[in-house]
Amino acid sequence: MRTDFCAELNEEDTGKEVVLCGWANSYRDHGGVIFIDLRDKTGIIQLVCDPADSPEAHKIATEVRDEYVLIAKGKVRLRGEGLENPKLKTGKIEVVVDELKIENRSEPTPFVIGDENVNEEIRLKYRYLDLRTKKAYETFRLRSKAAIAARNFLDANGFLEVETPILTKSTPEGARDYLVPSRLYPGEFYALPQSPQLFKQLLMVSGFDRYFQIAKCFRDEDLRADRQPEFTQIDVEMSFCTEDDVINIAEGLIKTIFAACGINIKTPFKRMPYTEAMENYGTDKPDLRFDLKLVDVIDIFENTNLKVFREIAQFKKLNRIKALPVPGGEKLTRKEIDSLTEFVAKFGAKGLAWVKVKENNELQGPIVKFLSDEEKNALIERCNVKNGDLIFFGAGSKRVVLDYMGRLRDRLGDMLGLKDPNVYEFLWVVDFPMFEIEEGHVKVKALHHPFTMPKNIDEEEIEDMTSQAYDMVVNGVELGGGSIRIHKTEIQKKVFEILGITQEEAEEKFGFLLEALKFGAPPHGGFAIGFDRLIMLLTKKDNIRDVIAFPKTQKAQCLLTNAPSKVEPDQLKELHIRVREPKKV
Ligand code: ASP
Repeated sequence: MRTDFCAELNEEDTGKEVVLCGWANSYRDHGGVIFIDLRDKTGIIQLVCDPADSPEAHKIATEVRDEYVLIAKGKVRLRGEGLENPKLKTGKIEVVVDELKIENRSEPTPFVIGDENVNEEIRLKYRYLDLRTKKAYETFRLRSKAAIAARNFLDANGFLEVETPILTKSTPEGARDYLVPSRLYPGEFYALPQSPQLFKQLLMVSGFDRYFQIAKCFRDEDLRADRQPEFTQIDVEMSFCTEDDVINIAEGLIKTIFAACGINIKTPFKRMPYTEAMENYGTDKPDLRFDLKLVDVIDIFENTNLKVFREIAQFKKLNRIKALPVPGGEKLTRKEIDSLTEFVAKFGAKGLAWVKVKENNELQGPIVKFLSDEEKNALIERCNVKNGDLIFFGAGSKRVVLDYMGRLRDRLGDMLGLKDPNVYEFLWVVDFPMFEIEEGHVKVKALHHPFTMPKNIDEEEIEDMTSQAYDMVVNGVELGGGSIRIHKTEIQKKVFEILGITQEEAEEKFGFLLEALKFGAPPHGGFAIGFDRLIMLLTKKDNIRDVIAFPKTQKAQCLLTNAPSKVEPDQLKELHIRVREPKKV
């Protein structure tokens, strides 16, 4: 129907006869001449309906209202000096209309299209209107480009795109499953996949060698700004590979996707052992855009007069005293420091000691009177501070101190404006501990599932075993991760044993995988990249809902379709299900 898109026209098209299709973004009647801003996915152009040019078109234009669907035929002309609109890409030109057709009318919309100050619930209910802007279109154009770049890269590297089932059995990512009742088997359920993990491993046993999928994953977890009940992963698996091989592919993939979106990033990425990340940044996903770093100072306080520190310093394996030197931190006001103290208290800090560094290395602050000269000098030297700097201290049990000091570091990064939004600092966090011991229970560390290959399975202490797992981190966000998998039955059995998974339980849950390992499973490994998070990064959005066409709310509802919703009693009957209403409390 059209000859051109609205915002692709420019001065060079002056004199061109065009047919444009789109929506009336706005209209103005200026004493007989009607101006309509016509919008399509590319943006806006001004239509002029002058009775002197075409009385018919002008008559139709008098009926136009916001969001009417229009088809306009006319000629491009320069607006002329003084009439240009510098805010519009097409602000130097306009289209003089000689034929106008109202293709469809619109009721008044529940909000003005493009108004960003509208309550999100209303925007989600009318998501199709919310998406009717060039800005939204650009987000999804980029998402599409990224997906296509990923496919092309993986295809060129010998990866086969294979779909795996959505109706399946529980998969081992550790979140709660979404279940689907079976009509044919009363009381039995499918689970929606938390990831294609087990199937991609089976494809390696089949000898497919390299697999990928842009896969939907489902996890029934508490939602946050960057989580949705269903999300998308670029899921990859390969055979006969080392950790380095997998990392190379993942880096190539990310570099290619960024390049397709016009951003150059440098590879290889840094690699940092888990322990270093935790000790220096207090997190396994450090934001390396700024170099504030935690410093170990526990030994300095072994004999200090500051009783709390002295007591904590007696147990070096379990406890930590960490200093966080902040260059120029002197400028933090007392109010700001107090707000930080309140902030860390939420994460278990019993207080937040600090000192300011003055001229001639003089220290100032509530704890200074307890410190000996020797301790002061050791601190200044270890923290490498000078006049105008500030040092925060975290002291207590290792887990709690690392956690809140990591959060403090992050908060300071925001407060002091240290996070350059245009910089992408990628890194791999490697050498994760294989197991985590929490309140007497052994757990597989972090996101890694029980099929992750340990580096040193014969280690006496299970705490010292590391896994061949790797996380891709950028700007403090975990973008993805993966591991080399266990491909030998004996090792898998040993890992299950350590985890306290009984043979029967393992059989019941992953029997099919264990069986497959017996039939010549090749060494293999892979990774998955959170595709929605990747698009958030590329579009600089901090809400995952902005990069998903039809997202759910933080309460896991789809306001557009009203899902989840009640179903007919007959449907329940067919599924052998009786609903028990939750007790009112
Ligand atoms: N299945 C893992 C996940 O979804 C990724 C992997 O190990 O490949 O996080």
